[in-house]
Amino acid sequence: MPERFDIVVAGAGHNSLITAAYLARAGYHCVVLEGRPIAGGGVKSAELTLRGFQHDVCSSAHNVIQDNPMLRDDELKLGEFGLEYIFPDPVFHMPFSDGSYLTQWRDLDRTCAEFAKFSKNDGLAYRRMITEYEQVKPIFEANTFTPVGFGKPVNEQLAQHPHGKLWQRRLAMSVWEIVRDTFEDDHCRAFMLASPWTLQPPLDPFTGRLAYITFHQQRQSRPLPKGGSGALTQALVRSIQAHGGVVLTSKWVTQLIVESGKCAGVECADGSSYRADKAVVSTIHIKQLVNMAPHDLWPQDFIDAVDTWTGGATMFVTNCATTEPPRYAVRGGTLSPVHSGLMASPDRTLRLGFDFASGAVNTEDPPLHVICCSVADPTRAPSGMHTVKIVGYQPYHLKRRAERRTERRDAPSARLGAAPHAHSRPVSDGRDHASGRFGHRRAGKKRRNGHAQGFRDQHRGSGEEKGLAGPARMEATS
Ligand SMILES: Cc1cc2nc3c(=O)[nH]c(=O)nc-3n(C[C@H](O)[C@H](O)[C@H](O)COP(=O)(O)OP(=O)(O)OC[C@H]3O[C@@H](n4cnc5c(N)ncnc54)[C@H](O)[C@@H]3O)c2cc1C
Repeated sequence: MPERFDIVVAGAGHNSLITAAYLARAGYHCVVLEGRPIAGGGVKSAELTLRGFQHDVCSSAHNVIQDNPMLRDDELKLGEFGLEYIFPDPVFHMPFSDGSYLTQWRDLDRTCAEFAKFSKNDGLAYRRMITEYEQVKPIFEANTFTPVGFGKPVNEQLAQHPHGKLWQRRLAMSVWEIVRDTFEDDHCRAFMLASPWTLQPPLDPFTGRLAYITFHQQRQSRPLPKGGSGALTQALVRSIQAHGGVVLTSKWVTQLIVESGKCAGVECADGSSYRADKAVVSTIHIKQLVNMAPHDLWPQDFIDAVDTWTGGATMFVTNCATTEPPRYAVRGGTLSPVHSGLMASPDRTLRLGFDFASGAVNTEDPPLHVICCSVADPTRAPSGMHTVKIVGYQPYHLKRRAERRTERRDAPSARLGAAPHAHSRPVSDGRDHASGRFGHRRAGKKRRNGHAQGFRDQHRGSGEEKGLAGPARMEATS
């Protein structure tokens, strides 16, 4: 006999869990079915290297979600279920090969002074950009958290704003055009394009809004859930359970049950099935979802959209357990930020966009994002130790098969992971401070979740949860 619920939610990423948490709170009897052994999807933490080191499997910084009414207005009261945010300061640090550096601090004046080190005009431009963005931010914010079809499109809202025409134009531009026209110094431009890199080719039209993401960081830092990124999804699971909901793991949904043209439930790989009296909600990737029901039941525009869907820019991630945090030489001493990044020049970001488009692996001056959460959150590692995550960017779709084989061998995350030492001149005593390492890298066969795009796990050390390879695409946690 299939189990009956009001709502069946397939997949337990944070988006599914938020949906289920609201529904459970509203009194609906919900079940969440997660295929993997741990709920959380891309918002999950685990001991990937050594015992006692909590690494973020995918996401670390929870920025956009801070403006979600769930957190902004504390609608789900997740603090009562263990969620607490830390707001690191400095926010982001970028060292350059000429020995200079630019640090973003939570204090606006201090950050403007960092830009002004390179160009007085750029210091002024940074402040001006923030002031201008604040005028339209409520429109963008409201749009982000309004379901499609429930509010006016951004363009219509901007049309009624006194500076709306200017912003309509900016949205249609590329992030590169806006950064190039606003800043005159290349260090400042590189920082604006890569703190962190936006994962969209910077020359693409309609990427203009990404020029302003640095300002979300300016206002709210890059927030980290205490204990690990997974603290958010764990709090959501507890909230669902506290309101009578059920969260089941190792439940791969394989089939949708369709009756009278409506989805009435799901079947799982282990033979179990779950019926929904009111609705079935899913964050199963559309590439898989489309095969879970007869094709003629889907509208043609949905099938066309699935056919033409391709993943965005991809990342290689290496997680290390270390005895030291990264330390960068700055005036008067050293700095150990949670977030630091390498982007040799603005040209390197343009090149990155081109390499992604053409499927070329490029390890020259590798753009990197280094994240050491334990600097701000010592609970993530044993006393005095650290978790270091190194994110490198290389294309998933390589241009030729032969190159693919060589590049797969030659460009693993480990090689990219060594790069900060070469390029950022961190202070070092010459010892190897990495005591355990875990990396995600490209593999030939696709995983079950299209979000994962064929990544597999590479364990060194005593990883706790196998099968955790993270998705290859990057999207804002919204
Ligand atoms: C390396 C990396 C770093 C990132 N860093 C950041 C960051 O710092 N900040 C940020 O905001 N975002 C970041 N992201 C993006 C963020 O992780 C994702 O946008 C987010 O996790 C997507 O959440 P979701 O709930 O939509 O989907 P997912 O988290 O992908 O959840 C989908 C869930 O459904 C499950 N599932 C799929 N198919 C089935 C099935 N058939 N049956 C049962 N279960 C199924 C999956 O196992 C998964 O748990 C990062 C992503 C990666 C890969």
